[in-house]
Amino acid sequence: MDDATIFALSSGAPPAGVAVIRITGPHVRFVLETMLGYIPEPRYATLSSLAFMGENLDQALVLFFPGPASFTGEDVCEFHIHGGSAVVKAVLSVLGSMDGLRMAEAGEFTWRAFMHGKMDLTAVEGLSDLLQAETEMQRRQARDMAFGRLNQAAEIWREDLVRARSLIEAELDFADEEDVPESLQSEVVAAILALRKKLNETLKNFHAGERLRSGFEIILLGAPNVGKSSLLNAVARRDVAIVSSEAGTTRDLVEVHLDLGGYAVRLVDTAGLRDVEGGVEGEGIRRARERAGLADLVLLLDNLDSNTEQSLKTDDYKAVWRIGTKADLIDSDPQQLVKYDYIISSISGSGLSELLESLERFVSETTQGYSPLINRERHYRLLKQAVESLDRSLQHHISLELMAEDLRVVSDCLARLVGRIDVEDLLSSIFAEFCVGK
Ligand code: GDP
Repeated sequence: MDDATIFALSSGAPPAGVAVIRITGPHVRFVLETMLGYIPEPRYATLSSLAFMGENLDQALVLFFPGPASFTGEDVCEFHIHGGSAVVKAVLSVLGSMDGLRMAEAGEFTWRAFMHGKMDLTAVEGLSDLLQAETEMQRRQARDMAFGRLNQAAEIWREDLVRARSLIEAELDFADEEDVPESLQSEVVAAILALRKKLNETLKNFHAGERLRSGFEIILLGAPNVGKSSLLNAVARRDVAIVSSEAGTTRDLVEVHLDLGGYAVRLVDTAGLRDVEGGVEGEGIRRARERAGLADLVLLLDNLDSNTEQSLKTDDYKAVWRIGTKADLIDSDPQQLVKYDYIISSISGSGLSELLESLERFVSETTQGYSPLINRERHYRLLKQAVESLDRSLQHHISLELMAEDLRVVSDCLARLVGRIDVEDLLSSIFAEFCVGK
């Protein structure tokens, strides 16, 4: 981190009604003196002209937050100016011409907040998710993370651990090593068991948390021409459901992002299933099956109008629904249809509403009752490692030194979780998720 004063357009791309330019660093007071001619009252909105070298640039609403009681912990100011492209450009270019000022990079304001102890790493992650949240459930989860829910839980776990460690340390300092008193042992073991239980409960809900954050995956499988892409397009055309359609198109996998009742869902179309050995098509099919193995739900499509029925080892998948397609082409024989969970026509639209409603119920039931604390692989890995060390400490309970060492590892895991130690490797990847101006 350098000591430059940084600035950025923090609001969306102009033209807009209002544009917000944010500045943080040691030169903020100088900027205010130069452009306003005075330092406005802290934390009050002040209407003022912004001028430079005798030229009036705009009439702005100015907010000044002296450090350390600011977002970054440094002096911060905000100019709320008219949101026209040329207005924004003029103000940014004046700021860029001042000594000691430069344009901020993506996430740099948040980076400074983190470095000055204003936020822990989980809050940074939550803030990043909050800015990217597309659905209601993503928003709620990100809000909790950004406002410290995981951090508070980690603090309680840390206190539990400190207690167990200090019991051991006290004993190591005063006892003659030979026998660990029973009473101490049982107290330490009880504390470790209680902490392990809390961490295991948290780990158990990781999958739901991860899906709430990054979206559930529903994958379409079936022979070529069975109607997979038609179904994908029919769903995408119901514009209530669609969030974005451009993401993730590859040679053989096409996905649309849906908002199903507030839950983020990725609906993925695959290469047609066919028994081809080797070759490009075979590779596409192999990848489709592999991806389907990881998906939350497989929709196995079957053309009612011809015999395309696929044999699929359903054990390989978490959940499979059989969908009969092209219902508009057949005179339905109820006997023949009982094996399907849903009967649809992407052309007439019949059955689509029922299917979408069931999909919504499916994703909401998957997470129901959970309020997951963790939602990133990073959280999962660290807590898993913490639990393993707790397990090891229980095996080592004959030797207090070994036990203390195991608990030190647990302590490190918790410190890494909130970013108190060893954050260097993570910072660039986490802050790269941010946009400029945050
Ligand atoms: P995919 O290879 O499984 O993706 O199949 P497509 O979605 O490309 O569909 C193959 C053909 O079936 C196309 O000509 C579609 O127009 C047609 N088709 C798809 N769904 C329906 C449907 O519900 N009714 C009818 N009549 N034709 C359909």
